[in-house]
Amino acid sequence: MFEDYDIVIGLEVHAELKTKTKVFCSCKNEFGSEPNSNCCPVCVGLPGALPVLNKKAVELTIKAGHTIGSSISPIAVFERKNYFYPDLAKAYQISQLERPICVGGSITLDSGKVIRINRIHLEEDAGKLVHKNDKIGTLIDYNRGGVPLIEMVTEPDISSAEEAVEFLMKYRSNLVFGDIADCKMEQGGMRCDVNLSVKKKGSSVLGTRTEMKNLNSFKMVQRAIEFEARRQVEEIEAGKTIVQETRKWDDNRGRSFAMRSKEEAQDYRYFPDPDILSVEISEDVVNSIKKTLPELSHQKKLRYIEELGLPAYDAKILTSEKYICEYFEKVLDKVKNPKIVSNWVMTEVLAKCKEQAVESLEEVISVKNLAYIINAVQDKEITRINGKELFEDACYSEFDAEEEAKSRGMVVKMSDQDLEKFIGEVMEENRSAVADYKDNPVKVENFFIGSLMKKTQGKANVEKARPIIHELLERSVR
Ligand SMILES: [Zn+2]
Repeated sequence: MFEDYDIVIGLEVHAELKTKTKVFCSCKNEFGSEPNSNCCPVCVGLPGALPVLNKKAVELTIKAGHTIGSSISPIAVFERKNYFYPDLAKAYQISQLERPICVGGSITLDSGKVIRINRIHLEEDAGKLVHKNDKIGTLIDYNRGGVPLIEMVTEPDISSAEEAVEFLMKYRSNLVFGDIADCKMEQGGMRCDVNLSVKKKGSSVLGTRTEMKNLNSFKMVQRAIEFEARRQVEEIEAGKTIVQETRKWDDNRGRSFAMRSKEEAQDYRYFPDPDILSVEISEDVVNSIKKTLPELSHQKKLRYIEELGLPAYDAKILTSEKYICEYFEKVLDKVKNPKIVSNWVMTEVLAKCKEQAVESLEEVISVKNLAYIINAVQDKEITRINGKELFEDACYSEFDAEEEAKSRGMVVKMSDQDLEKFIGEVMEENRSAVADYKDNPVKVENFFIGSLMKKTQGKANVEKARPIIHELLERSVR
């Protein structure tokens, strides 16, 4: 019966901007400080305190709009969204309704499907309720209150959990690569609300939608959508009607629960905040901010394929996180072979990463050490096995790989004379093979390469040895 229905999904995504201070006061925008230590009369809403708009927050909102091709409003108006909740001391949130900073835009999925974006507006975050045990009850930390938040709203163009997750990953990567927001989902730096309804396949009549709020991992979004779509279809098939409501997703129990009836914009009694003047945004400002936008993930991915010649698979993994491609590019500065660097980063360095959460791959192994190991293995200064051993020991360690390779006696720089001497020896020891060269040139040449590697325990440089062996064999048949 599920195949008879289409799923219609719209997303609202909140992301905390990467500013030094809060959006309407000069308190620090910092995660993890002592509770209620980054607060002042403005952000806890004491009577008479006046907000002052943070210019940087407006700039970052415009930058976010540029990543998705929004048009930027020439004027931005801030409004009060009135509601009471203990984490919102002044009983209203400063937000934007009628004149958001960014209007329109889109993100294209890998399938080519375009997901339209309605808007991005700037608002302030609320404080955080910390639920303790029965004795203590619930505590409030206002440090988060007044942290600048952008809310991005999509059109209802998404039709599956997979599309929703892909869209979110692309939007998140824009914000992270654009240096706009860190989007640390585990810290609440990015939260997602899902609006979902179902309708009979092909029908143009939309079903009644429900909303699930504050989903803070992609896995949670995926599970919540799958559950809610199924629940709505089952209700309809059982002859019941869907109630428009806000539902709470319980990730531990893997199901959603009715929380409250869904509120509409008019319930909040929005009105322009008399304490904040509307902001004019000139075209010059819009254009100069556009110039500060760095290369985004999807642009990097394309460049890695087209300019560096990497396979699409490698390019996708290397550009999946900003900290991966930053590291990759630093190593590539020192090792001029993209595919070899990519192999080391993807198979060795990232594998180490899974064992321990890191913010930068430099924490795993320094760029200097990895570059030395790759170059030394490539140049046959150390064997592949020794290279691997050095890599293992250099991970999460302080030592200098080059020094260590020397002190462990791993460095074997074979002189050209030594190389020729070894080649002479293997040819002397295999005279019958030399005689066979006329009939089987390729096979015999490879045989001698193999014999040389065996004799030198893999230390000979093949690129150097091959032309010498070739010349000697050619001479033998002249
Ligand atoms: Zn403050």
